[in-house]
Amino acid sequence: MHLIELYKKQDFVFSIEIFPPKTEKGMDKLKMTLEKFNGYTPDYFSVTYGAGGTSRENTHEMAAHIRHDLGVPVMAHLTCVSHTVKEIDDVLTKLKKSDIENLMALRGDPTVGTEHFIQPEGGYHNAGELISAVRKHSDFGIGAAGYPEGHVDNPDKDDDRKHLHGKIAAGAEFIVTQFFLDNTHFLRWRDKLREEGANVPLVAGILPPSNWKATKRMSEMCGVSIPQDLAEALLKHENDPEASKEIGYTHAEKQIENLLSEGVEGVHLYALNSLETVKRLGPKLRAAAGTSSA
Ligand code: FAD
Repeated sequence: MHLIELYKKQDFVFSIEIFPPKTEKGMDKLKMTLEKFNGYTPDYFSVTYGAGGTSRENTHEMAAHIRHDLGVPVMAHLTCVSHTVKEIDDVLTKLKKSDIENLMALRGDPTVGTEHFIQPEGGYHNAGELISAVRKHSDFGIGAAGYPEGHVDNPDKDDDRKHLHGKIAAGAEFIVTQFFLDNTHFLRWRDKLREEGANVPLVAGILPPSNWKATKRMSEMCGVSIPQDLAEALLKHENDPEASKEIGYTHAEKQIENLLSEGVEGVHLYALNSLETVKRLGPKLRAAAGTSSA
């Protein structure tokens, strides 16, 4: 089943993103944790794709585990980083053989030590090209990334949205956003895209801030702004991890409540493999998805 069918059937879709650990021990541990995540019945899981090495194979293994052992719909991420066209083709064939039906097609971030993304020799230059290649390869459900505050490499927000329309034209069936901490950015971006004719689901990516240092680092890296009151509260409790976490969860809960009142089509929870995050935010998201017309 393509995930777009879920978005068509339900008023609201709840998804959880996880990343595959690098070691076998880590993979076993995450598989056990996922059983608990699954108690909060997300509509699907998505599994990120690393910069290289074993973690890439582990994306495949974890996605297959979710699909076949947990029996939950899954989306495997795939990036253009360090891959030739032939290698991408091989990954797609392998995913297809494992009956993994959905892909998040991405360009990927620059590799460690490089400032800008460099097109791999004999590979793809951007997510739009990858999406076209996936479409040609076989029948996958395809998601793509969106940036409510613009992508960090592209200071021109209008131009960034133009490329997003390009990804939709190439075959992306729904868009999941990078995390944002101020809903007004998402809502304005959504309005603009709708005005410009985008008619695919625009799904909000939510990452609960965990503490001041991490939030500042992530925000700078991704070009995401931090609301003043959140910054002040996190800074005030910089040396108190429990208070910081509580501030972050409360902030995320408020964001979710507001997004639900604005009729968001889905929330994609960046859980970072944390059971605590899923325990805290899962019930609200599940309840929202449960009131769908499915
Ligand atoms: P693109 O859509 O290709 O855009 C990249 C930049 O190029 C933008 O600045 C855009 O404006 C510009 N651009 C796009 N098309 C063109 C064009 N035709 N001509 C000129 N410029 C163009 N990273 C990982 O490594 N692994 C993951 O699993 C992963 N999962 C993610 C999941 C989500 C939901 C999101 C939001 C991001 C994820 N990322 C992941 C991060 C992502 O790889 C980076 O944000 C990356 O820098 C951009 O990827 P993209 O697919 O959005 O690229």
